Amino acid sequence: MTVSLKTLLDRSERNMGSGINVVVKDKALELIKRAYDEGIYVQISDGFRSHKEQNALYAKGRSTGGNIVTNARGGQSYHNFGLAVDYFLVSNDGKKAIWDVNKDWRRVAEIGKSLGFEWGGDWSSFKDYPHLQMTGGLSLAQLRAGKKPNLGGKSSAPSKGKVGANLSVDGYWGSKTTRALQDALGTVEDGYISDQVHNQATDAITSGIKFGDGNDGSIVVHALQRKIGSKADGLLGPNTIGALQKYLGTVYDKKLSRPSLVVKELQRRLNKGNL
Ligand SMILES: [Zn+2]
Repeated sequence: MTVSLKTLLDRSERNMGSGINVVVKDKALELIKRAYDEGIYVQISDGFRSHKEQNALYAKGRSTGGNIVTNARGGQSYHNFGLAVDYFLVSNDGKKAIWDVNKDWRRVAEIGKSLGFEWGGDWSSFKDYPHLQMTGGLSLAQLRAGKKPNLGGKSSAPSKGKVGANLSVDGYWGSKTTRALQDALGTVEDGYISDQVHNQATDAITSGIKFGDGNDGSIVVHALQRKIGSKADGLLGPNTIGALQKYLGTVYDKKLSRPSLVVKELQRRLNKGNL
């Protein structure tokens, strides 16, 4: 069954976060609608990012493992001022993320530009294909100094925050934890990776083999990886577990024990609604 427009809009709105500029949010939702009319299914993975989240992303490939994913520290990205969003394509059924910069991906960028966004794929030095931003003519220095962009609307006030999950903090990653994670990240809420997580993660740890639900990996794992700044392959292997441990500040051993400290912290954060 084809994914509904409402599903794409709902997931995207959640992923943009409460700190997103209201004009940027409306334009991003308009982008999704226009693409949908052309048979292109697109979702927003990320919008507002706190300075702390940005610093965690900056550490990736520097003080923490993996590849460098950004050159921006906290305050050096338009995401930090709610003025940027990142997008990705999803399969017709809405269950798989597609990260190929193909014809449809470029078409979405064109639509974005027609709505007033700048596209990171046009940058010459560091191409950032998922990235769309509106600067309102302001530099980052001006934004850091407290200037407010005029995008033709009022900027949104931060909301009170999401209602958290009600998980037992037991350190066991089951379907409830997966569902809460999916809810927090705005992906399909089916509790899907639940049955596989323990066995496959354990296998991954012992054998070093990566796993996922096919070549594209799991959409919730993708979303989590983008959140924590780990390589977005949708596969929950030792590197992703390690990145999650760094992100949550628990013991770094790239292992998922049963029970697990990193899963406990994940459950605590999901309960507080501040992953
Ligand atoms: Zn971006």
